[in-house]
Amino acid sequence: MSDSAIQIEGVHKRYGANQVLRGVDLSIGRGEFFGLVGVNGAGKTTLMKCLLDFARADAGALSLFGITHTEPRARAALAYLPEKFTPPYYLGGDDFLRYMAELYGISISPAALDSLLPIVDLDRVALQKPVRQLSKGTAQKLGILACLSSGRKLLVMDEPMSGLDPKVRARLKQHLLRLKAEGRTLFFSTHLLHDAETLCDRVAILHGGRVRFTGSPAQCCREFGTGDFEQAYLRCVG
Ligand code: ADP
Repeated sequence: MSDSAIQIEGVHKRYGANQVLRGVDLSIGRGEFFGLVGVNGAGKTTLMKCLLDFARADAGALSLFGITHTEPRARAALAYLPEKFTPPYYLGGDDFLRYMAELYGISISPAALDSLLPIVDLDRVALQKPVRQLSKGTAQKLGILACLSSGRKLLVMDEPMSGLDPKVRARLKQHLLRLKAEGRTLFFSTHLLHDAETLCDRVAILHGGRVRFTGSPAQCCREFGTGDFEQAYLRCVG
């Protein structure tokens, strides 16, 4: 059995003339909380899409729990939240959650749903509205709920905190830390360095198509000679 949840070796990816990834290596352990940070356009989403086989890497090897990423069973243990997520506009929120539960092969008990709703500050009434009537932030919350209710041992989330108000961000972080205590694994991208500092065992700073730093936020501060993670990040990408 592989010790790693995610293994990424020498991944290159080009879109036309744009060489986005230039040999990315990452190894994420089971039970680890790992954040991917980098400027807009650094290739964070592209790397996640390559991992999930939505985009084909030009070179390199990717695996999940020791299984090559192109095999559907490699994805059997994960839940994914895409960037800027919006569920299909014609579904009601509760229809969407039922649909996702079916795809995940689970059923969400009313009690389980009731325990998750306060995390994203939603109630049953909001779930009855069609997605087209929901704000962008509320639609994003439905995607988060689907991920959280999946019970999967690996969560891959592309900017999960974007568009969330501070209360929901704080509650979501608390909940994610509970999942960490249960041994789940989180691989997420974020622009919010404070969130990365709060949640992550380790972060990777992706810049110029390469990983410029991998380690804990505290190690990053030490490596770049500052006590402040934001300053360390700026020095790394500067
Ligand atoms: P990040 O998530 O770090 O903001 P992305 O992975 O979204 O970065 O984008 C990295 C680069 O790849 C950007 O220059 C973006 O314009 C380009 N890119 C992303 N997806 C595509 C695509 N489907 N076709 C062409 N270029 C793309």
